[in-house]
Amino acid sequence: MSHTRPIFIDTHAHMNLREFRPEPGKAVHRAAHAGVTRIVNVGTKVGSSRRAVELAEQFEGLYATVGIHPHDASSCDPEALAELRALCEHPKVVAVGEIGLDFYRDLSPRPVQVEAFKRLIELAWEASLPIVVHDRNAHDEVLAILDSECPDDLGGVLHCYSAGPDYLPATLALGFHIGIDGPITYANAGALRKVAARVPLDRLLLETDCPYLSPDGRERNRNEPAFLPDIAGRIAEVRELTVAEVGAATTANALRVFPRLRL
Ligand SMILES: [Zn+2]
Ligand SMILES: [Zn+2]
Repeated sequence: MSHTRPIFIDTHAHMNLREFRPEPGKAVHRAAHAGVTRIVNVGTKVGSSRRAVELAEQFEGLYATVGIHPHDASSCDPEALAELRALCEHPKVVAVGEIGLDFYRDLSPRPVQVEAFKRLIELAWEASLPIVVHDRNAHDEVLAILDSECPDDLGGVLHCYSAGPDYLPATLALGFHIGIDGPITYANAGALRKVAARVPLDRLLLETDCPYLSPDGRERNRNEPAFLPDIAGRIAEVRELTVAEVGAATTANALRVFPRLRL
């Protein structure tokens, strides 16, 4: 029996959003105390991408992704793409994201979302970075675009996976990983627990999506990376593993999916 403390990587956080100002250092410290020693802050538009990179420069354990969320797809113009392209050269930018389609809230017209998604996949390809994909109520469309637009070795994660067990085989066949968040702790999350039980262990990633999606029992919309072990605990339960085993496997996965991430 090993007594080493499990190490976790939060592969999808938004400490770049205003909820974490003015003192992100405190949340970073609480996370480290909980064993979450690496945190990837995810960009949702040019400004929050820039902020994610700033945080990565300030704190050793923080990394960044840069991208434009489908909600903001209308802002994906040549200027924005040029700025994201420049940010991709930063050594702590580990992926392009979050990018994708959101047909639930439809905050940008669907054709605009599709066009931005394709341009941002192209950007990732040019930069040789994996992608962090947001898919809400657009499972068929997202998989079709990943299938037609992604070179075989691009890879990445379907973050906050919500497509249920039926879409799992197609997602895995495309080489993508499955990001599991706080909803796995919710009473009504039977389908998601089925997903967490079935995903091959080497395709699983842990994420908080903080400040959103607080695990059960935590204050709503006050989620933070320190709560990541709640999610690991629930996955451990459904897979009949120890939390340490889930931590070790998902940490190894994160380092493989995001080659610029370092322990
Ligand atoms: Zn998302
Ligand atoms: Zn997110």
